[in-house]
Amino acid sequence: MTAQVMDAGMRTAVPPAGEARRVFVIDDDDIMLVSCRRILEKAGYEVETFSHGAEGIRRIPEAPPQLLLVDLKMPELDGLQVIERVREIDEDVVIAVITGYATISTAVDAMKAGAYDFLPKPFTPDELRLIVNRGCERWRLAMESKRLRREKEEAERRFVTFVSHQLKSPLVAAKQYLDVLLYTHKGELSPRTSEWLVRAQVRLGEMLNLIQDWLALARIERGTVCDRTATTDLPGIVRQAVDAVAPQAEAAGVTVEVEIAPSLPLLGGDEASLATIVTNLVSNAVKYNRVGGRVTIRAAAEGTMALLEVVDTGIGIPDQAIPHLFEEFYRVRTDQTRHIAGTGLGLAICKRIAHDLGGSIEVASRVGEGTRFAVRIPLAATAAGGGVRA
Ligand code: ADP
Repeated sequence: MTAQVMDAGMRTAVPPAGEARRVFVIDDDDIMLVSCRRILEKAGYEVETFSHGAEGIRRIPEAPPQLLLVDLKMPELDGLQVIERVREIDEDVVIAVITGYATISTAVDAMKAGAYDFLPKPFTPDELRLIVNRGCERWRLAMESKRLRREKEEAERRFVTFVSHQLKSPLVAAKQYLDVLLYTHKGELSPRTSEWLVRAQVRLGEMLNLIQDWLALARIERGTVCDRTATTDLPGIVRQAVDAVAPQAEAAGVTVEVEIAPSLPLLGGDEASLATIVTNLVSNAVKYNRVGGRVTIRAAAEGTMALLEVVDTGIGIPDQAIPHLFEEFYRVRTDQTRHIAGTGLGLAICKRIAHDLGGSIEVASRVGEGTRFAVRIPLAATAAGGGVRA
């Protein structure tokens, strides 16, 4: 291959001071290497050149460059193979390919493989500097956004830790004192004092639920909760959810029915995440129901997904509220719901989990008639390659 750097005069294009400066050039053409080094060093870059891809790749972990310029057509290791290997050891380095006109389609392949830009031969010193400056600026921006992302994650992590330790612990303690006080001094308290203490107990309970839900959402958002590779038996968690709401259902005069297809395979997803969805939907269906109302929980396979439906004959949801229902802290405010305690986080949590497990959640409702939530979760056979319920 002949050197094809056309001298078009030297305009100064110096990289921003104190920022990305190290550039590697890999090309089997020595004249090309010398020309690139001369042009880029004059422009203030630190340049290392290699006539074999393997040499350049070996050097990357020792002194990582911000930008790698690689010729696509080389004997032994070609440019595409170099890109692949470099990506395995350094995800940050910006790669630009040098290519002859005859290999434009290969340049497109290189960009698909992770190259950021390409420089067709012949090129002028200005074109070379432009590509290198642009690549190094891209590296700088990528590093900056990585740093900001890390800072944000760290701030979130610290905040979650702060909330759980500094807020939750004293609230739990205060609630426990009230529980003990109300239990041990029942007969000695005046009705008024009792009423106030019970109110304080209820408010503390609500606040603890809010913190609990908020922490659950924060953990899910950090991606540390849902496990798609686990498998779960749905009837088991539905049974637990029904048992858990039984006292409230009985107190509210609501009947809960379960219809699960006996042949339903295992679901792809961890038990805790799926139980959170089922518990939230079933408890809402009871909470927003009416005396004499009904809740029906159905589940069956639908292609590669499990379809879980929670249908109630409750108060229903106004049309204008439906688009906001899965937003964090959103609650429908009507005369019927005003006195029902809640955090407005349950459905946001359900949606997040369903999506993280590769599924979906939707709602249909009619005011005064009832509501139907439909959740689709991949069956284990699709998600993890196996699994019929024992
Ligand atoms: P919470 O119940 O704690 O307020 P959710 O996120 O679970 O929070 O629900 C958000 C809102 O959606 C609720 O405040 C309620 O107004 C409405 N909602 C949820 N489920 C139902 C249901 N089955 N029937 C009627 N309204 C419901």
